[in-house]
Amino acid sequence: NGNMELKYVHTTCPYCGTGCGFNIVVKDGRAVGIEPWHRAPVNAGKLCQKGRYAYEFIHSKDRLVKPLVRENGQLVETSWEEALALIAGRFMTFLPEEIVCLSSARTSNEENYLMQKFARVVLKTSNVDHCARLCHSSTVAGLAAVFGSGAMTNSILDIEESKCIFIIGSNTLEQHPLIGRRVMLAKKKGAKIVCADPRCTPTAKQADLHLSMYSGTDVALLNGLMHHIIENGWEDSAFISKRTKNYEEMKSVVMQEIYSLPNVSKITGVPEDDLKTAAEWIAQSKPSALIYSMGITQHTVGVDNVRSTANLMLLTGNLGVPGGGVNPLRGQNNVQGACDMGCLPDVYPGYQKVADPKNHRKMESIWGVSGLPKAPGLTVTELMEQLAEGTSTVKCMYVMGENFMLSDPDLNKVRKAMKQLDFLVVQDIFLSETANLADVVLPAACYAEKNGTQTNTERRVQRIRKAVDPPGDAKADWRIICELAGCMGYGPQFSYMNEAEIFEEISKVTPQYGGMSYERLEKPDSLQWPCPDKTHPGTPILHTEKFSTSDGLAEFSGIEWKPPAEVPDVEYPFILTTGRNIWHWHTGTMTRRSKTLASEVRTGWVELNPKDAKKLGIRNREKVRVLSRRGKIEIPSMVTEDIKPGVVFIPFHFKECAANLLTNGALDPVAKIPEYKACAVKIEKI
Ligand code: SF4
Repeated sequence: NGNMELKYVHTTCPYCGTGCGFNIVVKDGRAVGIEPWHRAPVNAGKLCQKGRYAYEFIHSKDRLVKPLVRENGQLVETSWEEALALIAGRFMTFLPEEIVCLSSARTSNEENYLMQKFARVVLKTSNVDHCARLCHSSTVAGLAAVFGSGAMTNSILDIEESKCIFIIGSNTLEQHPLIGRRVMLAKKKGAKIVCADPRCTPTAKQADLHLSMYSGTDVALLNGLMHHIIENGWEDSAFISKRTKNYEEMKSVVMQEIYSLPNVSKITGVPEDDLKTAAEWIAQSKPSALIYSMGITQHTVGVDNVRSTANLMLLTGNLGVPGGGVNPLRGQNNVQGACDMGCLPDVYPGYQKVADPKNHRKMESIWGVSGLPKAPGLTVTELMEQLAEGTSTVKCMYVMGENFMLSDPDLNKVRKAMKQLDFLVVQDIFLSETANLADVVLPAACYAEKNGTQTNTERRVQRIRKAVDPPGDAKADWRIICELAGCMGYGPQFSYMNEAEIFEEISKVTPQYGGMSYERLEKPDSLQWPCPDKTHPGTPILHTEKFSTSDGLAEFSGIEWKPPAEVPDVEYPFILTTGRNIWHWHTGTMTRRSKTLASEVRTGWVELNPKDAKKLGIRNREKVRVLSRRGKIEIPSMVTEDIKPGVVFIPFHFKECAANLLTNGALDPVAKIPEYKACAVKIEKI
């Protein structure tokens, strides 16, 4: 029986924040397939195409197998001993304020935990950040201000309990397909689906109502819905008086004439009747859930957008109940975990403020060190800005699993910023666009080659399990960090036998993970935080009795609509918005090396409305030039009714037509998240 040779290893998908479980099929030491794992907590055996083919890149011939160092401009192979000695020697020449660590939502909780510990303990810097800065830092700041916790309030499984689901700025069916499946199951049970998006995405097509809005008008739209709800007396007065504060201030803002539906219709481009229907469905169906993603967060008003979504759900009394809530969908598999682990410049693991001396003393005692940095560090987006302007003190970066040379906005500026560095170390599984600029490249293990945990978008902590060995000399990121710390004199603080020992320390340090262990994560396969003690069953729904704020109340805020940092004008007449495609993942390092996924979608495109195409004389699938004030690309057109006139869309996965050469690096003042979702461009026939 051929099956006798096969091994099936339960693990968690390395792509989106849904956190689906599956079995990697191993034959003769090689991953040869993915099979359903029917007991998987989130997806019960179902998978989308990315998960289905998540084995195809593992044994790619492009995997990094040896450390590389730059000599005479070329990256050449070297040994681990030489590479680590070189890095340790160079790191010791920099002052704490001259060095930055960039961690990654692509790696495990254990590895993120060690990266921030390395920054704080070994390098004595708070300059540690990760890619949540680019996707959900506005969620962390916005929801924490309102509810006292920046996490998704409800669970994926209870989406099915909703009577109305309002999806804004999320193409759920394409980007989180197994959450999309829950939305469709709710619809089958009679829930109304409302989708607000400038594109008629697959999600919008399945909705009962599509609010086809202009990019960057979210606050106006949300205020308009609240205006209409209050005008009709549909607000949940009992909930508002018992569980919230500051309602009158919020009300005085949204009841201004500018947020009456005729005015909001003009600002957003959504017909007035559609706004009325949406307001009525959201307020009159109980429970209603709100789902959002990067269409809300990636704006210069990202925090305002997030707080507005919370206002709407508080107004309608939909917090703390099954089937309700404010549900931000994290993009990458472990964004939630990387935040929880303290890979942010102002907090230790568990969101414990660096600036609070009590936390500082606690961490020094647990880590057995003194002299931890006392002040918060730099965000990576501020760093790029300062480097490009030549005003930064930073001279060195240590990057784990991030490819900002394709994922950051305004790539020409980022390239300029990189030229200011004296020393760049990148640890990755492939020679990415960023690794290609490094002075030293360290070969890392991928998700299938190591043990660990990751935390999905609904705070669910799950195991990843080793199925195969890493290729060549590649090693798990956690081992690399520990060896480097050892070379720099911190061996005792970074001495772990295995991943379970690191997790033990995490549960000691991180209150939300206090009751978790590898043993407990075997049965029942996962736990949702907060799980403060060993008998706690985990928490599927937050804020059921009181909010996590100091007085237990949620706080409304009055928020005025502000347009994007860059709006269309005569010279650049279109709004560009960017995003993903179901077949590909972020900068494509993995999916473009998966035979099946790469053969489905080979390159990028720009979507534009037929009316705009006609004016410009552009036909479908014709190569065109798209220009912004920051850069230009050449890219095939896709002429489609699925996008609003005046708006164009480009997926950001493809280096040969990189959308981020065009995007605007303008930042939200609080969360420092860039405005990927709205900038001005023009299109030229070639
Ligand atoms: Fe993986 Fe997300 Fe697809 Fe699930 S929905 S299989 S986690 S990419």
